[in-house]
Amino acid sequence: MRQVFNITGYRNCLFLKNSVRNRVVRYRYPVLAAAFAVLSGCAQQMVGVESHEMLNATLWAQSSAEYEAVTRQVYRVARANLDEALADPHWRAALEQTGDYADLPPAIVLDLDETILDNTSYEVRIIRELKKYSRASFADWCREVDAPAIPGAKEFLDYAADQNVAVFYYSARRENLRDCTARNLRALQVPFPNQSRLLLNTGTSKSEYRAMIARNYRILLLVGDNLQDFVDGSKTDPSRRRDLARSHVERWGREWIMLPNPMYGHWESSFYGFDYELPREEQLRRKNLQLHE
Ligand SMILES: [Mg+2]
Repeated sequence: MRQVFNITGYRNCLFLKNSVRNRVVRYRYPVLAAAFAVLSGCAQQMVGVESHEMLNATLWAQSSAEYEAVTRQVYRVARANLDEALADPHWRAALEQTGDYADLPPAIVLDLDETILDNTSYEVRIIRELKKYSRASFADWCREVDAPAIPGAKEFLDYAADQNVAVFYYSARRENLRDCTARNLRALQVPFPNQSRLLLNTGTSKSEYRAMIARNYRILLLVGDNLQDFVDGSKTDPSRRRDLARSHVERWGREWIMLPNPMYGHWESSFYGFDYELPREEQLRRKNLQLHE
């Protein structure tokens, strides 16, 4: 774990505290206000010296010009690819799409969190409390129905709907979050004609959902921020995950559109074997061990 504890600042605070105490003894009450002011300044300096491993990534996703440029760029590519896909009856995005699909109506399938919905305000809570993801705290945040759209997502989705492309959303969110998730999508005014377009985690894998959609639609694009949004078998160690992504190198930026998520995802939990119950310190220790020069 990277401690950002400022030892010099701490020593300075101790020195100031002792100095102030000596002066209080000599001059009593007139200096008490100054003493409290100095000590509260020290306290402020101490607060936040221990940072959270998600700080930089969350700042980048929440507030940087570069992140917004990337997501708009990604969705611009998606739109151009959608045009190409609509014109090509042999184009398909899902490996689960088999048989004669050329005449099926077109569809696109997108993940929600960090693909359509910006979850960074939930990550901020984790950072400020020096905690890690929990299903309960995430559910509480989802029920606030306050997630904004990822930049570029709504424009792309509206364009797809205008082209009569069916838009499906699938997510690792559980069924108990259906109502708040649907309300969040409606609040963003993205295409969402009915509940059948929202596929949540009921034990059905994303691969199985792709196969179900592919029976009735030609899936033109997959959009997500996690390898499992595209291909089955991705919940494995980091090396195998990279190999799996490389084995489909011709699909990236074409029928498979990946959004950046440096904050969390299977890329991160693969470093500690997806053991979400491990204490945060142990997760950090295992991640540190896998750095290499
Ligand atoms: Mg996601």
